[in-house]
Amino acid sequence: QAKKLGKNTFQFFTREMDQRIRKRLDLETRLRRALERNEFLLHYQPQVELSSGRVTGVEGLLRWCKDGGEILVPPREFIPILEETGLIVPVGEWVLQTAVAQARQWELAGLAPLQLAVNISARQFYRESLPEKIHTILEQNGFSSSRLTLEITESILLQDTGESLSKLRTLKDMGINIAIDDFGTGYSSLAYLKRLPIDELKIDRVFVEGMTEDPKDAALIEAIIELARKLGMKVVAEGVETAEQLDFISRRGCEKVQGFFLSRPLPAAGVEELLKAHFPGGEDRVGWAGRRR
Ligand code: C2E
Ligand code: MG
Ligand code: MG
Ligand code: MG
Repeated sequence: QAKKLGKNTFQFFTREMDQRIRKRLDLETRLRRALERNEFLLHYQPQVELSSGRVTGVEGLLRWCKDGGEILVPPREFIPILEETGLIVPVGEWVLQTAVAQARQWELAGLAPLQLAVNISARQFYRESLPEKIHTILEQNGFSSSRLTLEITESILLQDTGESLSKLRTLKDMGINIAIDDFGTGYSSLAYLKRLPIDELKIDRVFVEGMTEDPKDAALIEAIIELARKLGMKVVAEGVETAEQLDFISRRGCEKVQGFFLSRPLPAAGVEELLKAHFPGGEDRVGWAGRRR
């Protein structure tokens, strides 16, 4: 009896596993074709500088329009696969090229100058040719390196300190800015903050989420802001969703915010519209902050 049950259970699991493997392989096959089929696109999420109330930057965020259809697959469902398969290298290069070209176009159109943030994954970061690739893209587009920020995560820095230091130095020497994304969630020691040339810390959304209810989250945010200030780094708060959170964070001296409360990630045309509507002639004010999009 037990043996029979065991066997059935086993069959059940294999069938389920089989389906999962199939689904995964199917996704992988589709992702391999996605670049040449032009199925990737970028959305851009505005970053607002609190002192001026202006949109001073955008973060490029990858989207996949699977089979060219209407539905955008969320990054958490396909970026891990891109990373495991190494596809993130060519796709990441496409992201850089596309985002830089777009930012340059906005510059030429006379929109307020924007800092462009692009996410870089570990596989991409440790490619020997990354600085050279970036150099070429910046040069071809006539975009200044000082306007580019690379967002890396603490997990990248866990892997190899020697190599990451020289890599970051090279990028820094090119005039590129470095931000630590999802700061405070990476289980890494803080020692790297002393050794590595880092310009900006992005406070992870988990702390922002809890800060108005949980004094511990509030304490962590205050400590991160203080830490950054003392180390001469800027701070961006991610995932600001409410007026209360915005108020809380701005009182504590955080420089920049990014979150649904200010704006969701938008297609390029949406960014243009937003900038033109809210900052005609380059005018200031965060008065539009209360407007959800
Ligand atoms: P991330 O770099 O930390 O990007 C911020 C994520 O938080 C984005 O999710 C954004 O839509 C979301 N977000 C922003 N404000 C809010 C808010 O107020 N509330 C909530 N709930 N979420 C908010 P998204 O676009 O789904 O991207 C998820 C992650 O995928 C990114 O996290 C990044 O790690 C990765 N990713 C996205 N694009 C790229 C890319 O081009 N290259 C690489 N390597 N990774 C990317
Ligand atoms: Mg990011
Ligand atoms: Mg983040
Ligand atoms: Mg993230």
